[in-house]
Amino acid sequence: MKIICIGWNYRDHNKEMRRNDLPDKPIFFLKPDTALLKDNKPFFVPDFSQQVEYECELVYRINRIGKNIAERFAHRYYSEIALGIDFTARDLQAECRQKGSPWEIAKAFDNSATISQFIDLQTIGKNPSFCLFKNGTKVQEAKAEDMIFSIDKIIAYISKFLTLKIGDIIYTGTPAGVGKVEIGDRLQGFIGDREMFDFLVK
Ligand code: MG
Repeated sequence: MKIICIGWNYRDHNKEMRRNDLPDKPIFFLKPDTALLKDNKPFFVPDFSQQVEYECELVYRINRIGKNIAERFAHRYYSEIALGIDFTARDLQAECRQKGSPWEIAKAFDNSATISQFIDLQTIGKNPSFCLFKNGTKVQEAKAEDMIFSIDKIIAYISKFLTLKIGDIIYTGTPAGVGKVEIGDRLQGFIGDREMFDFLVK
């Protein structure tokens, strides 16, 4: 399976990262399956970074194979949603961006993709809201409709380049409020008022 992640998909996050131009197409990158972290297992801060940040994101799972999927048919390719964290080594990412290098060391490392259980989209509707609490304080909050590129647009775009297969998952980008994690932090994520994950940083 593939883990596909979208960058720069919320205006308020792009602004906090001092990026004011709107992307004209989705920007995506991949993580390997070794990045997955499930079942509320603790996240261990890797020793190669001094600035690991959380990015809470809605995650969709592909349920049929497809290539060159038209936007108007994209909704047929997913039926479940989860909440995840795209952990990012911000200091390494800054280095990569400065040198124009690929991002993998900053984005694709082991356990950098936290994922909750998946729930049926029908139980929560088309425009789910989600939020992240760090140590009991709400730090991120958004709705699916706040995305610059909807999941349907994302699927149409990605599938021009990559065949999507059953079980592939798509992280759809993060809203404003990203921040550093410290050992001892507790991260709790919600879709609507349903708790999706609750784990510790160690
Ligand atoms: Mg992200």
